[in-house]
Amino acid sequence: MGRLTVSAVPVLNDNYVWLIRDPDSGETAAVDPSVADPVLQAAAADELHITQVLNTHWHPDHTGGNDGIRDATGCTITAPAEAERVSRIDRIVSEGDRVTVAGAEAVVWDIPAHTSGHIAYYFEDAGMIFVGDTMFAMGCGRLFEGTAEQMYANMQRIAALPGDVRIYCGHEYTLANARFAAHAEPGNSDILRRLEDAAALRERGLITLPTTVAEERATNPFVRARDVQEFARLRSEKDSFR
Ligand code: ZN
Ligand code: FE
Repeated sequence: MGRLTVSAVPVLNDNYVWLIRDPDSGETAAVDPSVADPVLQAAAADELHITQVLNTHWHPDHTGGNDGIRDATGCTITAPAEAERVSRIDRIVSEGDRVTVAGAEAVVWDIPAHTSGHIAYYFEDAGMIFVGDTMFAMGCGRLFEGTAEQMYANMQRIAALPGDVRIYCGHEYTLANARFAAHAEPGNSDILRRLEDAAALRERGLITLPTTVAEERATNPFVRARDVQEFARLRSEKDSFR
């Protein structure tokens, strides 16, 4: 087993499909494939073999490529039960289940709120977590099927991981989130520094992810909220912020 590496396939407006690969064998898992073709092309270009798809939640921009990738590769699809409404799932997982990618193990977390069955895949030894649309760099997902209490608990749970854990999010929302964060915490110099960094990267069309637990503790207002009331106030303010 080699060391896993992760790369992004940017698709649709601002989605990222994550390819988790073993560079030695080429064995690869695709996380949250919105669409099939760009993912298959990216895999072919690097001579990767997609053996698995991992979904974090049922939304079509995270599952739309499932069937096309399975048809092309014969891969297995692992997902929360809620994804059965959009695709045939080979293995349904929830809190505490273990998933293996090229010999590296992830534990599944239930992190409901964006959707009621949303999960994360935490690769403890590899120091990385795939959080879908629950946490973004300097932001958090919308509460479509859950409560502020649930989402605040998710923020606290992720933020309690070791500071160097890399967080892989489902969308490139960093710049817009940084602008809101700077509005929410005008005196926070870490946020201002990160706003400048994100603006510079996006100007060149570059990715701003992954983020890290330490970065989110320092700059994510939804993580930094002192209690669920403050979290809920920020979340509703963000819904209409521009
Ligand atoms: Zn979503
Ligand atoms: Fe999404």
